[in-house]
Amino acid sequence: MSPRKITVLGATGSIGVNTLDVLSQLGGPDAFDIVALTGNGNIDLLARQAKTFRADLAVTADEARYQDLKDALAGTGIEVAAGRSGLAEAAERDAGWVMAAIVGTAGLAPTLAAARRGADIALANKECLVSAGDLFVDAVAAGGGRLLPVDSEHSAIFQALEDDQRHALERIILTASGGPFRTWTREQMAGVTADIARAHPNWSMGLKISIGSASMFNKALEMIEAKHLFNVTPEQIEVLVHPQSIVHSMVGYTDGSVLAQLGAPDMRTAIGYALTYPARPKLDVERLDFARIARLDFEAPDETRFPALRLARTALARGGVQGAVMNAAEETAFEAFVAGRIGFLEMADIAEAVMEDMTGWPAARVTQDVFAADEEARRLARQRIG
Ligand code: NDP
Repeated sequence: MSPRKITVLGATGSIGVNTLDVLSQLGGPDAFDIVALTGNGNIDLLARQAKTFRADLAVTADEARYQDLKDALAGTGIEVAAGRSGLAEAAERDAGWVMAAIVGTAGLAPTLAAARRGADIALANKECLVSAGDLFVDAVAAGGGRLLPVDSEHSAIFQALEDDQRHALERIILTASGGPFRTWTREQMAGVTADIARAHPNWSMGLKISIGSASMFNKALEMIEAKHLFNVTPEQIEVLVHPQSIVHSMVGYTDGSVLAQLGAPDMRTAIGYALTYPARPKLDVERLDFARIARLDFEAPDETRFPALRLARTALARGGVQGAVMNAAEETAFEAFVAGRIGFLEMADIAEAVMEDMTGWPAARVTQDVFAADEEARRLARQRIG
């Protein structure tokens, strides 16, 4: 049997690096045919990865770094490309399994391209589902590939969902660590910097998702992601704060049973499951020691201190392009927060105001409509940031 063909979009990020670690553990370049690896600014790492994994193609999304990547891979025979067309090229080549791990809306176009040609999509980039919603799900279905969740919560639900008992599904319970400010007042949160906000108590992740965990915007995105992924109503989605991040999420059934998936806070388990599904790979990750963990705590989320959760419910209730709008406004506000231009709490204020501004925006019929809504939301957010 010829080796499985793999592409990793966003190979140089936190999920990308973990994906390559899983691929290494399962045999590396002798066991997998690495079709394409993509990155953005981290050219050294991308070049090293491409050489180690003997990739056919390495792509930087940043056109200005094309020559740097070309130089770094000179004499290796590895093809090099850059920019949007380079990302499209990476997505369109014939890998049967594509890890979608670019951060933000930048991941939507290449992931859609891979989905449309029928690749199995291992979805870390939740923004695809938050922005494009059912259009994205339909694109995967039309292509004929599978949509395999990588977000640890959605992987947990995917694992706890009994396919033949879907009719008996009552609710899904998304767990949330609560982030570094779980017990903080709004007054305390008002003055935090990006460096403080990025320090997650349990997970080691990229900057955007770390800050999203602190504001709970990440959970807001995950609520919308869950709706599209599991075809549930907003009322069936619950959020539960669980500071230890051991129970990754749960599914409640009509007989009162709740099935959970547990594990160490390590993305490699979810990535490995998406890679070998429905089989389970043998992975060198930490095993849970329940006697040492001793206790698991749960508490209701506080939507006053963390308004992002309320905004997700609003977006779900309004439907249409509100997911895309919330995501784009929040991404723009996040960039302004990291640049020190707005405060931590203002991120939610800006997202809420832009969502309000665009309430009457028509629902998307094609993905171009999603990009248009995304662009307008960014423009309005920038206007509010000033
Ligand atoms: P990182 O910031 O660590 O990595 C992002 C990746 O995207 C890098 O490869 C980066 O390249 C690349 N990239 C950045 N900007 C662009 C752009 N404009 N165009 C193309 N590529 C770009 O993010 P994470 O790995 O943390 O997250 C990736 C996705 O996975 C996000 O959607 C996140 O929500 C999701 N996710 C992450 C989890 C985690 O544990 N980290 C858990 C669950 C979901 P470079 O580094 O070379 O600049």
